[in-house]
Amino acid sequence: MTSSKKITRQTVSLFHKKIKEAKRIAISGHMNPDGDCVGACLGLYTYILDLDGEKQVDLLLEPISEKFLFLKYAEKITQEKTGEEPYDLYIALDCSDTGRLGDFRQYFEEAASTICVDHHISNQGFGDLTFVIPDASSTCEILYDIFEEKKMSFDTAQCLYLGIVHDTGVFKHSNTTRRVMEIAGALIEKGVRPDFIIDETFYKKTYIQNQILGRALMESILLLDGKIIFSAIKKKDMDFYGVDSQDLDGIIDQLRVTAGVECALFLYEKAEGQFKVSLRSNDKVDVRKVAENFGGGGHVRAAGCTVEGNVRDIVNNITPFIEQQLIQEENV
Ligand code: 5GP
Ligand code: MN
Repeated sequence: MTSSKKITRQTVSLFHKKIKEAKRIAISGHMNPDGDCVGACLGLYTYILDLDGEKQVDLLLEPISEKFLFLKYAEKITQEKTGEEPYDLYIALDCSDTGRLGDFRQYFEEAASTICVDHHISNQGFGDLTFVIPDASSTCEILYDIFEEKKMSFDTAQCLYLGIVHDTGVFKHSNTTRRVMEIAGALIEKGVRPDFIIDETFYKKTYIQNQILGRALMESILLLDGKIIFSAIKKKDMDFYGVDSQDLDGIIDQLRVTAGVECALFLYEKAEGQFKVSLRSNDKVDVRKVAENFGGGGHVRAAGCTVEGNVRDIVNNITPFIEQQLIQEENV
């Protein structure tokens, strides 16, 4: 196994060698794919096909949000493996562990060779060749450094820009470094239009999405002197509005920017009695640590987990871990 917390000339040439030598490749990302995951998967897919249009590559990803469908080759995303034989090479993107691959995990495990590119701090490094760079804003930033700039097409650039925009919350989270802005600048020089990507994929909402956002905000509850805010959407309400989980994007960010709030929680019911919890913090709480107590993970300021139970019990179980960190912070 070659594991690297830095991108070196040696690991980059190994990356390209593995792709060149493999006949059948799978590119894959995490369950419930977000902007970085979609950008990384499609960015790598376009990059490989631009180099060799004959290469057989499966893009194994759960269905993506409609707002990303304008990206080149978005229609190639599939949940079906081609052929019976294991893949020669399986590339996992934006996944902190193989469990995050969901139903595709088995294909990763049986592949002849594997690569992992990720920026989650909890990633222990899995796969034959790993690029795990927690300081990177996004998986797309790492891919930018691995790719040869002159071989990057407009379509690849657009995907990478999208991933960076989403994981930095449009260049404003603490992971927005000088390097991030330089890369964004280089991608703009490739023809990417920031206004288009940012509005179309980040801020634009359908009428129904706005309605459910409004409802989640209206029903939100403040706890702990307004330092914690939470809101939840039940399955029956999602069915009533005819929305899926991707229509709920952005609710957590709006909760987080409530004045006085340190930590925001948003829950939606994935299945009867099972809730996906998103956690965000402003500057005092490490939400990854909170999520890890419930089998989840993520980053310092953005994390998630899936928990069984009812809303009240879940919130009551999670908030003490947040409170504990806030008390420690006050005592420093
Ligand atoms: P979100 O709240 O947007 O689903 O996720 C925020 C961050 O936490 C993302 O980086 C995502 O990969 C991570 N995350 C969300 N849910 C889980 C989970 O169940 N397990 C792990 N390990 N990470 C998660
Ligand atoms: Mn990411």
